Amino acid sequence: IDFEHCGFPEALNHNLKEAGYEVPTPIQMQMVPVGLLGRDILASADTGSGKTAAFLLPVILRALLESKTPAALILTPTRELAIQIERQAKELMTGLPRMKTVLLLHRLRQHVKVIIATPGRLLDIIKQNAVDLCGIKIVVVDEADTMLKMGFQQQVLDVLENVPQDCQTILVSATIPTSIEQLAGQLLHNPVRIVT
Ligand code: AMP
Repeated sequence: IDFEHCGFPEALNHNLKEAGYEVPTPIQMQMVPVGLLGRDILASADTGSGKTAAFLLPVILRALLESKTPAALILTPTRELAIQIERQAKELMTGLPRMKTVLLLHRLRQHVKVIIATPGRLLDIIKQNAVDLCGIKIVVVDEADTMLKMGFQQQVLDVLENVPQDCQTILVSATIPTSIEQLAGQLLHNPVRIVT
């Protein structure tokens, strides 16, 4: 299996090739097809596994279908991780139409399709009524175990109160202790479990 036979838009195939992503990693092989089906996912995956592209591909393909903005939300525990995710998102989204992405560090610009944010920062912006998340179709909670360790559980839950109930949710965590199982129970509907 390779990316070229997935039926992706030409520009995305080109970007994958440019980035040197010829062969999907094991997490990508499992997560991309399930993500494209619209299923909720609980994935255990570590940094270095290719997990970022594994959730970015379903995010990008879903967001491409939507005209409302923002359509996708990626939550991550730290600013540094947000910057890394945005870098990969930009790389994969080059040449795709109407696919502005934004790192939510300060304020929200207009017509942004994909938001990448830390929960605390996004909550501030929600409280200022400066973002409307009712068009969100897909949410990723990345490094969920780190989120809990940093004490962000309530903030994550508060943010997700503001997205539609029926949106697709992908939870990624290096480890799946009981606390993550509990969070998954609160956030996910009938998730597909992916272990790498
Ligand atoms: P991550 O686990 O998401 O932090 O990714 C680790 C590194 O692997 C990143 O530098 C990616 O650019 C790279 N990467 C992700 N997917 C692939 C792939 N299919 N082929 C080659 N490199 C990849």
